[in-house]
Amino acid sequence: MPYADLHCHSTFSDGTSTVEELVNLAVQAGLKGLSLTDHDTVAGYPELVKQTQKTDITLLTGVEYSTFYRGHSVHILGYGFSPDHPSLCHLFERHQKRRRERNLLILEKLTKKGMPIDTSLFLTTTPPTAGRPHIAQFLVDQGFVPNIPTAFALYLGDGKSCYVAGEPLSVTETIDTLHTAGGIAVLAHPHLLHSASLVRQLLALPFDGLECHYGQFPPKENARWVAMAQRHHLLITGGSDFHGSNKPHLSLGCAGINQETFEKLVQKKIFP
Ligand code: AMP
Ligand code: ZN
Ligand code: FE
Ligand code: FE
Repeated sequence: MPYADLHCHSTFSDGTSTVEELVNLAVQAGLKGLSLTDHDTVAGYPELVKQTQKTDITLLTGVEYSTFYRGHSVHILGYGFSPDHPSLCHLFERHQKRRRERNLLILEKLTKKGMPIDTSLFLTTTPPTAGRPHIAQFLVDQGFVPNIPTAFALYLGDGKSCYVAGEPLSVTETIDTLHTAGGIAVLAHPHLLHSASLVRQLLALPFDGLECHYGQFPPKENARWVAMAQRHHLLITGGSDFHGSNKPHLSLGCAGINQETFEKLVQKKIFP
């Protein structure tokens, strides 16, 4: 079991576990370090700080941003930043505006296909960073599809009939903002990117680290990315990408980093 898991999601984005449940799982898994990396928000941190006070878990501030590079979707993990830095807060607002506008466009497309979702119910029952997994759950609840993977396969997956990319937020601007807020920028799950050549192009940008250890892949597959991180002199990070029952095959702590790497990262800023 790794010392720290640096990639997980709560109900503040598209995870199904509350922050309290997440902390209980972290304790059960024997984790000593944790970074909550909800999509485009740090809204879970005040509760996370409260819930970890009675544990021996050390926190590292984290977030996962959705950006675009030359038409490809790219996820960037940020760590160790000051969560209330004005530049960062402004970027959170822009990301959340992008999500809101995009969700409404997706709901319009679904309505045109005969699958209406009650917009006001959607907006009042999902977090400000809601995304496609929430829409998929509505489609399941209303009986339009049997399960979430089918919703993605038929309608919501990249390039499918009801997919909307939304305003593309740039990789370089996101990295710059994380640096301005005293944090570091890590290229998330390179395993899922279109090609190794795209990863190399991205690593020419001022990233600080590469997420080499990723829950969904076996150690042999992760080793390839460790080698690439070493060639580029990047920090090697890792995490499960735990989403609760939205990704039932990934348990909290199934991937992560050792104590030495975690302590190096924590020397940066942690949430007060
Ligand atoms: P969004 O942030 O709205 O673009 O939604 C992306 C999220 O949807 C990812 O972080 C995954 O958690 C989830 N996701 C993407 N593809 C699938 C899929 N085929 N089946 C289930 N969940 C998916
Ligand atoms: Zn997610
Ligand atoms: Fe991701
Ligand atoms: Fe994630």
